[in-house]
Amino acid sequence: MASLPEPIIALTAALARLPGIGPRSAERLALHLVQSDAGTVRTLAEAILAARERISLCRVCGALTERQPCTLCDDPRRDASIVCVVERPTDIFSIEKSGAFHGRFHVLGGKISPLNGVGPEDLRIADLEARLGTEPIQEVILALGTDVEGDATGHYLAKRLAPRSVKVSRLAHGLPAGSGLEFADELTLSRALEGRTNL
Ligand code: ZN
Repeated sequence: MASLPEPIIALTAALARLPGIGPRSAERLALHLVQSDAGTVRTLAEAILAARERISLCRVCGALTERQPCTLCDDPRRDASIVCVVERPTDIFSIEKSGAFHGRFHVLGGKISPLNGVGPEDLRIADLEARLGTEPIQEVILALGTDVEGDATGHYLAKRLAPRSVKVSRLAHGLPAGSGLEFADELTLSRALEGRTNL
């Protein structure tokens, strides 16, 4: 079988690096794109570039944002005394969708995972401590995944924040076990937030 032209192979390889796209899907997409109308492909390429260039992480909370600081940090109607700590920027969307939280956020950027070489110093924990010193934060809600690593990260944070004069709580049980926030429906999340337990 004649191999594909090099640009198609290169495009396939680039697409295959995207999450959820296996080698076969990548090749199918690449073959589709090279046979598509040039204008359509240009629009797609420009949208990818524009989104990547305009979106960055909020320097305060770590949310995906088009401006610094983000609208969540900057909104005076949000309760600055309460901060919800999540693993990833996309977790913010899950919590916002539940409509049960009106405070601020803090993205850790992952969870403690010795197997993957991720330690506490790789997460935005020092930034959180710095915020405790400069913002009127009275409660930190840990809204982490219910898997082993999310649990371990929660325990570590609760211990590290214990000497601080801040209340630390975690989401009530009821989230799907062994998963992240994106798998919880809105009602479950809002119940977990309302029924949060003190640590
Ligand atoms: Zn922010």
